[in-house]
Amino acid sequence: MEQKEALAKLAELQKKLYAYQAADSALYLDGTTVAPKDTAEGRGVALGILAGERHKLFSAPEVGRLLDFLWERKDELDQLRCRQVEELRRSYAQLTRIPADEYMEYAVLTNEASDVWHRAKERDDFELFRPVLEKLVAFNVKFAGYYDSTKLPYDALLNEYERGVDMAYLDQFFSTLRGRIVPLLRAVMEKEQPDDSFLRRRYPAESQRKFSDYLMEVLGLDRAHCGIGETEHPYTLEFNNKDVRITTHYHEEDVGNSMYSVIHEGGHAKYELGICDEVQYTCLAGGVSMGVHESQSRFYENLIGRSLPFIRAIFPKMKEFFPEQLSDVTAEQFYRAVNKVQPSLIRTEADELTYCLHVMVRYEIEKQLIGGTLAVADVPAAWNRLYKEYLGIEVPDDRSGCLQDSHWSGGAFGYFPSYALGSAYGAQMLKNMEGEMDVWGPVSRGDLSGVSGWLGEKVHQFGGLLEPADVVKNACGEFDPAVFAEYLEKKYADLYGL
Ligand code: ZN
Repeated sequence: MEQKEALAKLAELQKKLYAYQAADSALYLDGTTVAPKDTAEGRGVALGILAGERHKLFSAPEVGRLLDFLWERKDELDQLRCRQVEELRRSYAQLTRIPADEYMEYAVLTNEASDVWHRAKERDDFELFRPVLEKLVAFNVKFAGYYDSTKLPYDALLNEYERGVDMAYLDQFFSTLRGRIVPLLRAVMEKEQPDDSFLRRRYPAESQRKFSDYLMEVLGLDRAHCGIGETEHPYTLEFNNKDVRITTHYHEEDVGNSMYSVIHEGGHAKYELGICDEVQYTCLAGGVSMGVHESQSRFYENLIGRSLPFIRAIFPKMKEFFPEQLSDVTAEQFYRAVNKVQPSLIRTEADELTYCLHVMVRYEIEKQLIGGTLAVADVPAAWNRLYKEYLGIEVPDDRSGCLQDSHWSGGAFGYFPSYALGSAYGAQMLKNMEGEMDVWGPVSRGDLSGVSGWLGEKVHQFGGLLEPADVVKNACGEFDPAVFAEYLEKKYADLYGL
């Protein structure tokens, strides 16, 4: 085989893999946004077949031979091709260890699980979800062995979302944060709380939809390449760097909910849309890791979206969308309201300070579930106990407890820590950004182009061209969770007069 021919085959293989991914994503998008509720079965059949075909395509022995052939000549390849072969070899080795029937069975299971989870949450019925969750845990423990049999199962799963991160690293990361957040939270809770009752006036979904359009414009999201849909649990889905979809959920009695979902998902979308053309339709397309992805979404959501300069910039326009609801509210009052610290039940609605504590609950439970020291049947009790311990609150039902998140139903164990890592990465990126340019002058005028430009250059453009740790280093320097703790301490000292 000639090298030229091999490279052509490499490109063709990746385009086919992209096509399967695109089909899978389109079905998922449909299923979670506009599809009628009892239609999951047929999509499940299609997804099962697609997963099987993709598996067959990618696990074929000639793919292994092609990748080996190119790897032996890696010194002659450019960086782009070299990284592709490296990543594909890693995935190939992993995939060929998973038996095809198990792989297909799992694809069908996750599709079914999403449907069951929706119903279980709706009815507040953990027992309905329990058998499916048991299967999902068992599959993940087994798959962890296929991913990397030299690691403990949960370490192997964590590594899938954030390469290089394991329990030893996270135990230390979380204990640093807990040591700083818990006393800060205690001090804040002794202070007088701002009035945030106006956030829960009635904000019609129709006005909120227009407000979302405006927010997307401020974020600089090109609507010809980025759509918005409505779903139960907001997420972002990318087809490629010219086609990204964000989703939100409108709560008429809570204007901040969708507002910050749109800004958060918008941050994910900015990342995907900012990835360079060279890596499209290859295995290097898409954000490099979940942690880096969350650093971008949470950067826009919290560091920018919950800052006073940003709120001052958008508030006059916001009053046009909600003239009656906000007639007696100032930008400063709104800023204080959306930064109110309140230990609460729902992670996605948590304030920036208590958010990491929500993540720690899930981390502890996953660690034990995958480690085999906690039975699925005992998840609700463990959940409720940890919420009491970390956040000091009682969980009244599983709907607002262990059934609240969609992640486990999608088979994602080891994902949650990425949220906390992302927050911490983001705070350090902001510190560096402030050292290099005027961040807040333009933001106070509603101009986010400088922020986007910096993130685009340091993070977005690379996609998977660099390893996650190198992207973090590029934007953060030497990672230090204390920077995030300092950011929180300063912000809440100002807000609460500590
Ligand atoms: Zn996110």
